[in-house]
Amino acid sequence: IVIGMVAGILLGTFLQWLMPNGSDKIINLYFFDLSLKGFLVDGVLEVIGQIFMSSLRMLVVPLVFVSLVCGVCSLKDISKLGRIGGKAIGLYLATTAIAISFAIFVALLIAPGEGVNMVANSSFTSKEAPSLAQVIIQMFPTNPFASFAEGNMLQIIVFALLFGIAIALSGKAGDRIAALFDDLSVVIMRLVSILMNIAPYGVFALLATLFTSVSLDTFGNLIKYFFVVFFVLLIHALVTYPIILKLLTGLNPLIFLKKMRDTAIFAFSTASSNATIPVTLETATKKMGVKNSIASFTVPLGATINMDGTAIMQGVATVFIAQVFAQDLTLADYLTVVLTATLASIGTAGVPGVGLIMLAMVLEQVGLPVEGIALIIGVDRLLDMTRTAVNVTGDSMVSVVIAKSEGQFDHEMYLDAKAGQNID
Ligand code: ASP
Repeated sequence: IVIGMVAGILLGTFLQWLMPNGSDKIINLYFFDLSLKGFLVDGVLEVIGQIFMSSLRMLVVPLVFVSLVCGVCSLKDISKLGRIGGKAIGLYLATTAIAISFAIFVALLIAPGEGVNMVANSSFTSKEAPSLAQVIIQMFPTNPFASFAEGNMLQIIVFALLFGIAIALSGKAGDRIAALFDDLSVVIMRLVSILMNIAPYGVFALLATLFTSVSLDTFGNLIKYFFVVFFVLLIHALVTYPIILKLLTGLNPLIFLKKMRDTAIFAFSTASSNATIPVTLETATKKMGVKNSIASFTVPLGATINMDGTAIMQGVATVFIAQVFAQDLTLADYLTVVLTATLASIGTAGVPGVGLIMLAMVLEQVGLPVEGIALIIGVDRLLDMTRTAVNVTGDSMVSVVIAKSEGQFDHEMYLDAKAGQNID
């Protein structure tokens, strides 16, 4: 997967150098002319990348539903569910609040928007972000099949929890259904493993396509903004998470980071925490030693409500936009930003670009122009990829912490460097 990533980035960058600004390069092959862009990029790389992405997303709904039902059934003591849920939501919100506070602090220190003269030449129309009350009401499905069809993660989680509880309370009939779900879970996990075999090619194709159009020299005024976000993301993933993990569990964080690597690359390539759920879940249960009873709940929940990387971008972007528009924000404004961004992450799914929708909500709360988003949109794709990698690292870290505190943790698997590597 690492080789796929590096090779994809190199090929994409090379193709961009060969065909700057979206131009095409025709190679004359005696019998016919081969269009590099039309054939190699749009015809091969893009097709492989998109098929890979669809196959990942195809697994998300059945995987989340089946493994969560199994997770609830295997909990034995259903009353634990409330405690686990409380811990998960508490930790997710707390890490997000830490992330955005740190981001605002660094952004104020470095002032990426000071002296920058930019006008928003394109406008940004934001989709309406849902209110917290709406989010809570909409967590409860009226038609679970519609939730499955739409891939509505919170509704699927609620239905799976209720379904799992009912199975656990249904005596013999429940036992039979639970056994069926256990078998289904084995089959679906096998499907995930099969897909993992083609993952390096998928990652290669996705990144090669992307890097034909992403270039650092278009960054101009945004270079400082870009690097501040990037720097805070790195610190959060490589310093804050390890500290929290060490403090709360005593585990060696280096092992955690090492085991996280492939999943983070996946998240980076797809820019979607949701599409990465199968990989995050597999890493948590087969490499990190988190029992399915915890991971099946915390991972999909985290993909939806926990977005520390996204919150970091929002913190820096708010400071940047305020500075470009020369507007002063008060301490109360910054607190509003922290609160809004933390709560906004609950109701929005982990899909590419959703951070900008949440940012619109944050800017509105503190009276900054929403058009400001048009200023940063140009460099958002790369940052989206990076912050998604941080988002899934946070989901996994919290899963480990909760599993450890609930005694649902396999310490030997965590220490085993080879765990999960021989799944084919
Ligand atoms: N792409 C991010 C995710 O899926 C969300 C975002 O920051 O836009 O986690």
